[in-house]
Amino acid sequence: MSFKSLGLSDALLRAISKKGYTTPSPIQAKAIPLVLERKDVLASAQTGTGKTAGFTLPILQLLSQEPPLRRRPIRALILTPTRELAAQVYANVQEYSTFLDIRSTVIFGGVNAKPQIRTLRNGVDILVATPGRLLDLHSQNALSLAKVEMLVLDEADRMLDMGFLRDIKRVIDLMPKRRQNLLFSATFSKDIKKLANSILHNPVSVEATPENTTAEKVNQIVYKVNKPEKTNVLIKLISDGNWSQVLVFTRTKHGANRLTKKLISNHISAAAIHGNKTQNARTKALSGFKKGDIRILVATDIAARGLDIPLLPFVINYELPNVPEDYVHRIGRTGRAGASGDAISLVSAEEYEYVRGIEKLLGEKLITEEIEGFEADPNYTPPPKQERSQRSRNQTKSSSKGTSSRNQNSRKPSNSGSTSSNNKRKNSRSRNRKRD
Ligand code: AMP
Repeated sequence: MSFKSLGLSDALLRAISKKGYTTPSPIQAKAIPLVLERKDVLASAQTGTGKTAGFTLPILQLLSQEPPLRRRPIRALILTPTRELAAQVYANVQEYSTFLDIRSTVIFGGVNAKPQIRTLRNGVDILVATPGRLLDLHSQNALSLAKVEMLVLDEADRMLDMGFLRDIKRVIDLMPKRRQNLLFSATFSKDIKKLANSILHNPVSVEATPENTTAEKVNQIVYKVNKPEKTNVLIKLISDGNWSQVLVFTRTKHGANRLTKKLISNHISAAAIHGNKTQNARTKALSGFKKGDIRILVATDIAARGLDIPLLPFVINYELPNVPEDYVHRIGRTGRAGASGDAISLVSAEEYEYVRGIEKLLGEKLITEEIEGFEADPNYTPPPKQERSQRSRNQTKSSSKGTSSRNQNSRKPSNSGSTSSNNKRKNSRSRNRKRD
């Protein structure tokens, strides 16, 4: 299968070969012909499968087939959940349209809106946007969606997780009813299916990888460790392996900051990326990491969503996510575009229940090992969850007064399991929904 056989124009084929792609990825081979036929598409594809080109290439082809409209109204809108993903998709749009007379731009929050407004006033054919800034600039009459012919919802599941459903509905109300719709999502919850039913007309479903499965080329391993020992284990793994580019996930922004500081104090270059960082700090951290100036990027789930770092060799879960689907997203950062990668999870007794949730979702057992010298204490049972969260609140207070982390894991016997697992899942989901 070649890109040419998918019916793409010479200008696009030139741009594709400039990027160095030789064969379409499975999602591209499936989605491109359907989009060119102006079908609505419901695509199951996670980041790393080449989905961006899967929708960008045919959109560019369709738009460039007709002469540009006077004043260049927005004809294609690509909505993404995060700023980083928006910037990345826009970079792709620019690269693929090198040899076409197509104008595009990107808008997202956290940066000055004035330059964005100026570019929009000159007219663009394709707009890549996050929902908040889009609605904000629309309310200032800086843009109109009245001529949109094509809508892409990229990483739709994450948009819902981030609480963008109402914003998406508002955006849809601003567009003409007759348009082509493409929805990309890594996971398909009831809510996503409902959204898809309300937006798509007779969609054709395409799948890049089976739903909720991890990329085959990712080697996954769980290391059982004691919680207070996690940082030392992480430092040992990075140092022993002499790893130069590692994406590390923590569950909280404060956790990401704390870990980054500890790594730096151990002479390992690191930067944190999360929602409390300014857009400039996020961009700087990401580009430093991509260039190799920063060895370790410590990220929270939402901030990491959509990061495209080609050939990222290692992903480490310093803490496991409480929502199993997030594990799939996290480890999708490695083993990208056909390369292999390692996903390592440092798991303390408090998180064993998350491992079980992940294994259930994946339908397979994860390989579990211990690291010599850092074996998990087999007699330690974590206290019940409520007690734990109260204790970690106290710890945050005391650790800010300088208490050593080694003291933070007192060994109390447990009479655990008072909350039902359904409730736990519910609570963790709503916590996760908080915008990063
Ligand atoms: P995406 O899933 O769109 O984020 O793409 C993941 C990575 O795959 C990006 O680094 C793309 O540049 C790369 N990529 C996309 N399509 C291809 C292809 N056909 N051949 C090789 N690499 C690709």
